Formats: sequence, structure tokens, C-alpha cells
Amino acid sequence: MRIGVLTSGGDAPGMNAAVVAVVRRALVRGWSVSAIHEGYAGLMEGRIADIGWNGVSHVQQLGGTVLGTARSPEFRTSAGRKEAVFHLVQARISRLVVVGGDGSLTGANALRAEWGAHIEALLKERRITRDAANTHPRLGLTGLVGSIDNDLWGTDRTIGCDTALHRIVDAVDTLTSTARSHQRSFVVEVMGRRAGFLALAASVCTGADHVLIPERPADDWEGEVCAALWRGRHLGRRKSIVLLAEGACDRQGKRIEAEALRAMIERELQIETRTTVLGHVQRGGTPSAYDRVQSTALGVAAVDRLVGEARGAEPTVMTTAGPSVVPRLLAECVRKTAEIATALDEGRFQAAVNARGPEFMELLAAHDTHGRPAGSQAVQRRLLLAHVGAPAPGMNAAIHAFVRTVSVAGHVPVLAHEGLRGLLEGRLAEVDVDGIQSVGATLLGTNRWRPRTTGEVAQLRKALQTHDIDGVVLVGGFGALEAAAAMRVPCAVVPATISNNVPGTEISVGADTAVNAICEAIDRLKQSAVGSRHRVFFVEVMGRRCGWLARAAGIGGGAELVYTDEEPPTLDRLRQDVAGLNAAMDAGRTVGIVLVADGVPDPYRAERLADLFRQESGGRFDTRVCVLGHLQQGGRPSPADRMLAVRLVQKAVADVLSGCRPCVVGLASGAVKTERVEHALAASDRDARRPTFPRLLASVTDPPGPPSA
Ligand code: ADP
Repeated sequence: MRIGVLTSGGDAPGMNAAVVAVVRRALVRGWSVSAIHEGYAGLMEGRIADIGWNGVSHVQQLGGTVLGTARSPEFRTSAGRKEAVFHLVQARISRLVVVGGDGSLTGANALRAEWGAHIEALLKERRITRDAANTHPRLGLTGLVGSIDNDLWGTDRTIGCDTALHRIVDAVDTLTSTARSHQRSFVVEVMGRRAGFLALAASVCTGADHVLIPERPADDWEGEVCAALWRGRHLGRRKSIVLLAEGACDRQGKRIEAEALRAMIERELQIETRTTVLGHVQRGGTPSAYDRVQSTALGVAAVDRLVGEARGAEPTVMTTAGPSVVPRLLAECVRKTAEIATALDEGRFQAAVNARGPEFMELLAAHDTHGRPAGSQAVQRRLLLAHVGAPAPGMNAAIHAFVRTVSVAGHVPVLAHEGLRGLLEGRLAEVDVDGIQSVGATLLGTNRWRPRTTGEVAQLRKALQTHDIDGVVLVGGFGALEAAAAMRVPCAVVPATISNNVPGTEISVGADTAVNAICEAIDRLKQSAVGSRHRVFFVEVMGRRCGWLARAAGIGGGAELVYTDEEPPTLDRLRQDVAGLNAAMDAGRTVGIVLVADGVPDPYRAERLADLFRQESGGRFDTRVCVLGHLQQGGRPSPADRMLAVRLVQKAVADVLSGCRPCVVGLASGAVKTERVEHALAASDRDARRPTFPRLLASVTDPPGPPSA
């Protein structure tokens, strides 16, 4: 049986990781694979070739698509699609994975719907044999959504969107520093076609003063922009940033041009204003870790679906809900996406916002909170934010969101320096939170202290009383849960740790940045070995006894092997892995990456494994050890970590204000949810400090070489 894979429409970073996953998963499942080059245009010309395991080596870290892509007007015609059917049958392809945007998926849907009719016609024209017609009665089809715009209904993210956000947020962070120096304004136009997600998300990540998106046009956009910028300056901000989605319009449907916006700001507010149109840099470059990891999971799921499904099953799209992959009907996704466009055309903007989903609405709420002045309640409550545990990128975004959310609700935000120890010592302070989202670690400092004895619990409760604290938001790791359990006042934990070992959430703030840091390091290691050839790197990564970080980075970085405390290298496994790596080297591989979590049992630590593999390689390769250490904890927080921090903090503050029992606010299938701390702790291994439920993508890791024949 043979599966075909093509990329189509606008290129998107992460498409290559999807292609790698499709090719290798299909081979592992015993299928042959054909690569179709240059999208539908190539398909109609029969540009189809066999592709094997090594045909996709070291491409997942590349931007764009190695298969090539194209826009093909001819494929929009039935005659064009008949040619496509002809070449698919000629190449004996019975299952197809299409990686593309909504246009490409619409085309794929048409291809599949017309399949039977085209087969009949080709048979009549004697271009295919009866035998061929009989063996290809239908086309099995699955789509993966490649588009930086995040514009398809039914999926949290499209492939490429996260990388595009990295580019935009990097650019706006950079502009912010220069804008601050000169007290300037910037209008930044970002892509997204008719979807405002990129602009809105970037605005929340960077603390932009205003955002103009297609889903929420204003009656008087000029007035709104001016009011927002004026408020920002009034709040003491030295710069003003307006993000403009390329599809933003006024209420009459007239596009808002960046230049018109700039001129208006200068005219009305007399502030020096510059325009930056980010353009195609947004879609280029190395894919982010998320776009590699999630695209891999999507590619694997697509193949598993196609291999397992009955003939004639409805075509599906693999969508994402947080880290989970959810198959949905292709026709439904295409139809609902078209309905959003119709809602925008007809001015039913709230319907469009609702259809974009809960995360979109949470980000809108965060954006609005950012711009509002502090509220004032008759009975003001004092809410404390403190960290527990190691620093994690994104903590500053959490602090920023906390201060804004609590103040706008009319209450008093109180910040503890250096965690709960700081609270005990009365080190509470004001921090200027303007623009801190982009800064790594935490401006407050953190501390691992948490109460372990009844005496310490009493001490903590007394300190809370002394400072009139009515509720607490703890932003930190596993220890934050243990501390929360000791609280008498309402308390919510926002999980923030690069290890991602906190039960009660599928992902913690900081983990995404750390995976990006590791993937970047792996990319560099691979490049460094180009000259030396035949080298295997044993890279030790953090996470202690929770292997999530190693596993996720292993997928994103294309590691050959990953060893964690959950899946330690037993002797049997080592024997197999040594043989596998040796065979891969014999088959032409020159560089290898082995990730080892720093919590594996002592005999299996990275340097020991490196010695062992070198010894057993029979001279095939040399080994090197690389300990990434605290590089993984620092660095500017990724957009995903900033957004996550904001979403979780908003809910945590709401929970605390509503008088919650100690709880942890996390994500489940991408949605924000609250779980009681005692339940979360019950679902964890307290010794190993990790959740007991499996949430690792074990099935999608890459075996070191092709399956043996
Ligand atoms: P994207 O897939 O990124 O949305 P396009 O909208 O340009 O990009 O679509 C890519 C290709 O998919 C088009 O060039 C065309 O070949 C095919 N396509 C798009 N829309 C349709 C359609 N309605 N029917 C058939 N084919 C389509």
C-alpha cells in the first residue's frame, strides 16, 4: 500500500516536520511513501517520487517546505483534478496527506468527492486499466492545516502560526526598546489575512497599546486608537505601539491602511509615529519548537488514521486541542471556516469572535484589561502574588497580568520579593510592570521555600494576616502546590516551571521557552558536526525525574534517542539502541543526538552512556557530552509562554476573588480549567515530583533508523 504526501498553498514553518512524520510513520507501519512535489501543480504533472527514511533526514528544522509548494488555478477546475486522479492512480497512491491552508483543503475535498467520476472517465478514455480502476475505487484523505494565520475553524493552532508569532513578537520587542528611548509611536502591520489571531496574540504578548483586528471593528476606530494611546501615556508608558492586522477594516468594510493610521496618530496626538510592515519575514525561518513537535504529532496521527480507517471513510483534518490531536471532518472544518468569512462580510462580528473560540476571547479580555485604568471597589481586597520554586520564562508576563487584572477589578495587587520567604520577611514591593512581559525569569526573584512543618505553616498564615492578605496566587512549580495546600485564604496556583512536572495542567509556563532553547542548541550541535562527521552528541537536559522536557525537545530537535527516568535505558534497551545507532551510521547517517534527562538513575547518566556507545560503536562514531544546564531556564519568554501566563493568571485571579479552595489553574486539551490542589497532588508521584498520568508523546519519537525489511 502506498501513501502520498504533498504541501500546498502558502508555505508555513513546520510543514517539513509534518512531512518527516508522515514519511517515517508510514514506513514504520509498513507502507510505501511517495512525495508529490510542488503541490497540486506538481501532482497534475505527475511530479511524484518514492521517498525513504533518509529522504527526510535533517529537514524538520528547516523553514518553508522541502517538497515545494505552488498555487494552481488549474486544480480549481474539474479537468485539472482529473489529471491529478490520473497521476495518483499511475503512482498507485491510495491514501493522501495534504498539508496546506483552507484553500488547499477545500481543493482536496473536491478531489476526493469527484474521485469516482474521474476514475470512470479515465477508464472510458482508456488512460487507466480496469484493474487500476478496481484497485483505486476511492481516495483515503487526511489534511493537516498549514497556515501561519491560525484561521481554520476547529483547531487551536495551524502549522506555522507559532513560528510567525515568534517573528512578530521578536520584532515588536525590538521596536519597543527603540520606541521607549525616543518616546515614539509605532504602527506595526502583521499578517493574518482575515483572521486577527496573530495581531491579537502579539499584542497580549508585548503589551501593545491597541490592536485593530477584523473580528472587532470599531464605530470610530480613530477615536479608539487615540484614546488608547492617550491612556497609555497617562499610565506612564514612554512608547505607544498599535498592532494592525492586515485584514482590519472599519465598520463599513473599508480596509485600514497602516499609512493612514500613522498619519492620523501624528495629526491628532502630535506624537512622532513610524510604520513597520513586517511582511514575509513572518512566514520564513526556522520553525519554532512547538511547530516541530505538534506537526510531528499531527503527521503521525494522520498516517495512523489513514492506515486504520475503513475504505470510504469521510476525509478528516487533524486538528489540535492543546497538545492533543483531534480528528475532525474536513468538510465541517471547511464549511465552518467559510461561515466565519460570511459572518465578517455580513457584519456579524460577535458571531465571528465566538467562532474563533475561547482562547481568542480570553486574549481579547486580556488586551482590554491591559488598556483600562484601575478600578475602585468599596471593599478592596489585597491579593498577593508569590513565586515558589525555580525561575521560569513567562513569570514576568504572569506578574504583569496579575497586577493589571487585580487593579482593573478594583483591588490591590501585592507582590512578594523572593517568594514566600520574602513574605515572611515582609519584603513586599511595588514593581513597575510596564513592558516586563518580554523579560526572562522574574523581576521579583524567587525562592524554593514552602512550609514543611506545622510551625512553618503557622508562620506563613501569620504573615498573611499581618499583611492583610485576602487571597494568594502562587506562580511556580511542584512546590507551589504543596504550599497552596497549607493556605487558609483563597489560593490558586499558576504552574510555572520549565520541567512541566506540575500535575493539574498539560503544560506549565516556561516549558515552551525551554524546549525552544534545547531545540536551538541541538540545531547548532548538528551544524557543528558537519565538518567532523560521524559524531553522536549526548545532551543532558533538565527536568529531573519528569521526562517531558527531554521527550518534547527530542521530537522537536529530531533526536535519535531519548532517555528519561520514566523510560530509563535498561540493559536490553541499550543493546537494541546501540545496534540501531550503529546500523543507522552504516546506512549513511553522520550525526546523532541522544537526549538524557538529568534525573535518570546514576549508571545511565549522559557521560556514562557516551562512553558506552563509543565503546560499542566499533569505531563508527565518536561521542561528545553537552550539558545545557541553566541555559534552559533563562532567555526571553516565548509567545506561547506569555499567552499561557496571561490566560492562567486571569482565571486564577477570578478564582481567588470568588473565594476558591486551594486550586491549580491549568490547561486540559488546550482549555483553561481549575482543579483542586488535593486532587492534583493525588494524581502525582510525590517522590518523583511528577504527574502520574502519561502525557508524553512516546509514540511519536523517531526510531534511529528505518524499520528492518
Ligand atoms: P492555502 O491552501 O494556503 O489557503 P490557496 O487558497 O492559494 O492557499 O490554495 C492553494 C491551492 O489549493 C490553490 O492554488 C488551488 O490549486 C487549490 N484550491 C484552493 N481553493 C480551491 C477550491 N475552492 N477548489 C479547488 N481547489 C482549490
